[in-house]
Amino acid sequence: MAPFAHARVNLDAITSNARLLRELAGGTPLMGVVKADGYGHGMLPAAHALIEGGATWLGTAFIKEGLELRRAGITVPVLSWIIPPGEPVGEAIGAGIDLGVSDLGVLREIVAEARRLGRLARVQLKADTGMHRGGVNQTDWESVVGAAARAEEEGVLKVSGVWSHFACADEPGHPSIQAQLDVFHEALEVVEKAGLAPEVRHIANSAALLTLPEARFDLVRGGIASYGLCPIPGFDVPGLRPAMTLESKVALTKRVPAGSGVSYGHRYFTRSETTLALVPLGYADGVPRAATNRGPVLLGGTPRVIAGTVCMDQFVVDVGDDPVKAGEYAVLFGDPGEYQAVPTAEDWAEVLDTIPYEIVTRVGVRVPREYV
Ligand code: PLP
Repeated sequence: MAPFAHARVNLDAITSNARLLRELAGGTPLMGVVKADGYGHGMLPAAHALIEGGATWLGTAFIKEGLELRRAGITVPVLSWIIPPGEPVGEAIGAGIDLGVSDLGVLREIVAEARRLGRLARVQLKADTGMHRGGVNQTDWESVVGAAARAEEEGVLKVSGVWSHFACADEPGHPSIQAQLDVFHEALEVVEKAGLAPEVRHIANSAALLTLPEARFDLVRGGIASYGLCPIPGFDVPGLRPAMTLESKVALTKRVPAGSGVSYGHRYFTRSETTLALVPLGYADGVPRAATNRGPVLLGGTPRVIAGTVCMDQFVVDVGDDPVKAGEYAVLFGDPGEYQAVPTAEDWAEVLDTIPYEIVTRVGVRVPREYV
């Protein structure tokens, strides 16, 4: 464990974000996306908080994550969507997990497992509508839908959903958004013509949920916004509450003369005699080394910036002549509604030219999560 450090996760914030997202989506059912350990917040606590806030579905990237939800007694519908060869497809069928289908090979594997187990598999056919990542290619869509329809007739499979994913929803107005919606509508027509009646059709992630009512369909998938962070830079969502606060305490302070080089590589030099405060969090804990001389920190109630290179387990802040002592709180990011002037994960993302997803999912295993 990193001494004096923790990621405090406010579960009420996650619950209230889920409620807000449902409201903003006009009451459309919400899938809480809890992959990657609930975006670093802890998958199971996040899942429970989302369900309490009204999420009626959960989404994970991998089957193993879905199975962990089931083992914890969570019974709401779960969709798991990345299925490389060798994944426990049979276990997922047994656990009633919906499986995302992105090609004929996976569909065949699922059908074979369902026949072997004598169990009905629930699949959600994913159309590649233009992101060109997962999803069935447009050219293969009819044949995959046809194969799924035959398996459904045979009684081994239920096509419970049809879905897709946007490439550029975080850039409202991007021409690819409408183009993807058009392709999704065509894909849905093919499904209808094949006589299939999926329970849910969905394409919206957080950004689309917030900006695109025509993308709601039967379900919206709320990932990053569930955790109180906005995927669209500069877009204000009143009421959204960042759930994670990454904080630590100063481990030691020292006075050094003017011109002292600080940390590896001496990438920072003190301008005058000053106090340096050492914060015991480093890149092993998810403070990117790229935050060297740039990462914002609220220390002793004052906004400051990391001085010198971020190390594996620690970084330094130049606090001048302020009376900062060991034990003083250092908050890297949190909820400005809770701590005035605290940087947000979005601020960190902007400074580091990345996205807030990376900031929260990177918080390392050495940093205990504390739930409030
Ligand atoms: N759906 C899929 C397929 C995803 O991969 C993700 C996350 O990357 C989400 C939904 C949730 O996206 P967001 O966190 O932007 O809401």
